[in-house]
Amino acid sequence: MDSFEYNPNPGRVVFGSGTLQKLPEEIARLQVNSPLVLSTPQQISQAENVKDVLQGQVAGIFSEATMHTPTHITDKALEYAKAQGADSVISIGGGSTIGLGKAISIRTGLPHICIPTTYAGSEMTPILGETANGLKQTRSDPKILPGTVIYDVDLTMTLPAAMSATSGVNAIAHAVEALYARNTNPIITMMAIEGTRALASALPEIVENPSSQSARSKALYGAWLCGTCLGSVGMSIHHKLCHTLGGSFNLPHAETHTAVLPHAISYNAPNIPEAMKKLADALPDSNGDAIHGLNVLLTKLKVKRGLKDFGMKEEDIDKAADIAVSNPYWNPRAIERAPIRELIRRVWVGEPAN
Ligand code: NAD
Repeated sequence: MDSFEYNPNPGRVVFGSGTLQKLPEEIARLQVNSPLVLSTPQQISQAENVKDVLQGQVAGIFSEATMHTPTHITDKALEYAKAQGADSVISIGGGSTIGLGKAISIRTGLPHICIPTTYAGSEMTPILGETANGLKQTRSDPKILPGTVIYDVDLTMTLPAAMSATSGVNAIAHAVEALYARNTNPIITMMAIEGTRALASALPEIVENPSSQSARSKALYGAWLCGTCLGSVGMSIHHKLCHTLGGSFNLPHAETHTAVLPHAISYNAPNIPEAMKKLADALPDSNGDAIHGLNVLLTKLKVKRGLKDFGMKEEDIDKAADIAVSNPYWNPRAIERAPIRELIRRVWVGEPAN
């Protein structure tokens, strides 16, 4: 066996149905009693629900979380937290709300309880992306990792089918890149395979029947494992491309991951035969071919596959290629501009990968 290093991230996980009701115990465990509850404007009723579960014992609700964690929103939330005497933060929502929770927690040292309602996986990572003056910058610090995560499948039932599909593929992307990460290890590989398998079987079921609790539960379990992969090992060309495209052309996060993933894998395929085999084994209907398996999955999920459908302009392809090849992340295949430009062109059109 090859040598490896393994750094488990020390977060506490409470998983199940109705687990939101365990929040008072978790608050008591942390010896805090005045949490600030964070949400987006769209999820304010779930934030109110948190307040009810805590019998009104909260510092307040701040419901202005938004994509890309802009620092002016963080500043506003910090002022509110201070004025209300908050001693902890609870983020209920997707990656955007969890990002705000991380931004507050790293600035103040307040403990952070996450209640994720999408499959993006931010709750499992020590990574924070923030936007100031139109520029998104990412940093990693063990102190950014939320201390407690409550996964309650009941809170994911309202995630629309289309968003569930792309958010789930976003999670699979973390697992895929973990399979060929330079610093991967056998534990993360197991989680990547198990997470992909769970999501690939649950997501088509959710698209067909969004109220299936068993499928939702399996997807959330998969998302936890895939998020752990993201938080534990390095990511490569796929995440670099999505970061570039999302950040520079304001494209939606999960949808961009979904459109790019088969093409990113196809780019790396010649250099990662073992990872391709593991991925093929984890995808139903792959017939031993991971890209075919992924194409079948995306067809079942009825997702849009062209970035032009999300407003990216054809003339942005060259700009995107330039940014993608500058300061590249480590990747198993050398990053060359011509094939990367062709990859982005194909994603822009929405051609299936091969
Ligand atoms: P999001 O948090 O932006 O949520 C999208 C929309 O869906 C929001 O309006 C939200 O309120 C709504 N929503 C969420 N859950 C819902 C539910 N159960 N029912 C109904 N509506 C619901 O989307 P996301 O994809 O979870 O997160 C994307 C952001 O997270 C990006 O900014 C990305 O960069 C960041 N992210 C960061 C990390 C990290 O490790 N730092 C990891 C993954 C994603």
